[in-house]
Amino acid sequence: MKNVIGREVVIAQCPEMLSDESRYSLGVPDEVFFPENINDVKDLLTRAYKENLIVTFSGGRTGITGGAVPPDGGIIISFSNMKRILRCEKESDKTAILYCESGITLESIGRFLENPANWPEPVDGSELLYAGEFFYAADPTEKTAQLGGTVVTNASGARSFHYGATRKHIESIEVVLSTGELVKIKRSSKVESIWEIPLEKRTIKVDLPTYTWPCIKNASGFYNAPQLDPIDLFIGSEGTLGAICIVGIRLIKKPQFLSGLTFFPNRKAAFDFADFLRINSQIAAIEYFDESVFELFFTSKIQPSIDLPSLPENKQCAVYWEYIIKDTNSFDLEMDEWEEVLLRCGSSFDDTWSGFDSSESEKLKKFRHAVPEFVNSIVADNKRHCPLVRKIGTDSSIPGQYFREWFMSCVDKLIEQKIPFAAFGHLGDYHLHINMLPSNENQLAVALDLYHRFMLSACENGGTISAEHGVGKLKKDFLNCMFSEVALDQMRKIKHSFDPKWLLNKGTLF
Ligand SMILES: Cc1cc2nc3c(=O)[nH]c(=O)nc-3n(C[C@H](O)[C@H](O)[C@H](O)COP(=O)(O)OP(=O)(O)OC[C@H]3O[C@@H](n4cnc5c(N)ncnc54)[C@H](O)[C@@H]3O)c2cc1C
Repeated sequence: MKNVIGREVVIAQCPEMLSDESRYSLGVPDEVFFPENINDVKDLLTRAYKENLIVTFSGGRTGITGGAVPPDGGIIISFSNMKRILRCEKESDKTAILYCESGITLESIGRFLENPANWPEPVDGSELLYAGEFFYAADPTEKTAQLGGTVVTNASGARSFHYGATRKHIESIEVVLSTGELVKIKRSSKVESIWEIPLEKRTIKVDLPTYTWPCIKNASGFYNAPQLDPIDLFIGSEGTLGAICIVGIRLIKKPQFLSGLTFFPNRKAAFDFADFLRINSQIAAIEYFDESVFELFFTSKIQPSIDLPSLPENKQCAVYWEYIIKDTNSFDLEMDEWEEVLLRCGSSFDDTWSGFDSSESEKLKKFRHAVPEFVNSIVADNKRHCPLVRKIGTDSSIPGQYFREWFMSCVDKLIEQKIPFAAFGHLGDYHLHINMLPSNENQLAVALDLYHRFMLSACENGGTISAEHGVGKLKKDFLNCMFSEVALDQMRKIKHSFDPKWLLNKGTLF
């Protein structure tokens, strides 16, 4: 197994291990290990337990809450050499289960499914899959993320509106606990109040939580549900309970999607159109690009990395939608109704770039890519002038009935305080990322204060502090806005049952 020993050597040879996409950093570990398989992970954790070494798990490091950022000392376990697809079990012509090591990226899974016959290594059972027949419907946007990282953050993406977040698509996991012991967990073993887990030499008893889990999209804290399926405790646990080594994901038959980007004159019109889409069972994704995004495009001194196609006139915001085509004329039958609603919302099919037309589809792809890239390049430029500044982004979902008011009050405060921002995201789930882009220290202080206020008001309205990115190291101070001390205590007890020395992912979540 490859490893890198010594803080100086770690800094010199793998500096990327010291941070993640949040650009936050904390310390330098004594060693970094790159296990090749689950037995290597067992050996590493057995040793760490004996020697009381703090362990930080590192996936694709695309996380934006500092979960994979190590403190000083201890070891990092990186899963980047555990990326084999182990086998495939086709259940019917509608579903299959694919077993993978946790370090495989989402991009690789997608590539395998596009053409299983061409995969460089043999995969048992893959001969039964046709090219492009199945897809992994959990759809987190960043494809360099690793499967294990997306499982422990319960990541979601545009299509999670229809298909649900990662949790919905995980059938089994093999986890190595902090003691080096292996637990294999399959979905569908519902447990009442105490979960007894037989290990090789002992049994662990875990008191299941009793707190209420918000009924909106949420990735903050250990999951709970009446009659909890124990696999769900690990999904979304942010690597605090064990090392996820092997994952069985459910694949489903890939439908044909029709997509479009429709432009609107104002926020209200876009939100009204989203309300119309939300009740259509064939809609897979409803994503939103706010006026603030277009304003930045047109006023910033930073040039977008690509030539932006010109936008329809007098339009200020846009909704990206995906429609699942069930039969050839299903969309045609709805066209009249769509046209009528679009008209009421100040838009039309003429103001829509459609994924069917190849030149419009190209414009649509370019636009979707350009938005986050553009925001990141503004952050990078701001940082060049003032190294302390960073992007401060919300990840809250808000109950539908309070969403508009909450969002608009955030926007009003940002405008009042003159903080540049770009808001976009998962409107279908009432979950927009408001990205504040301070360019100097004064703006940074104001943005941090506003972020604090936004989180308090999100929680007061029954919303979450994180709906998909997780709490990590950067949002844990806000957990107590969402959960009572009793609930947090139950989470700590669960952590203690699996990781009695509190060695795993120190500083993440707790
Ligand atoms: C451009 C961009 C777009 C993004 N879009 C989305 C999006 O649409 N939806 C979304 O949910 N997120 C999104 N993210 C955030 C990020 O991609 C997700 O949080 C992702 O799940 C992180 O996976 P990772 O492999 O990069 O994990 P890392 O960032 O490496 O780690 C995340 C956490 O998981 C732990 N961990 C990693 N692997 C394991 C393992 N095998 N066992 C135990 N613990 C482990 C780490 O210790 C850490 O706590 C985006 C990020 C970027 C940069």
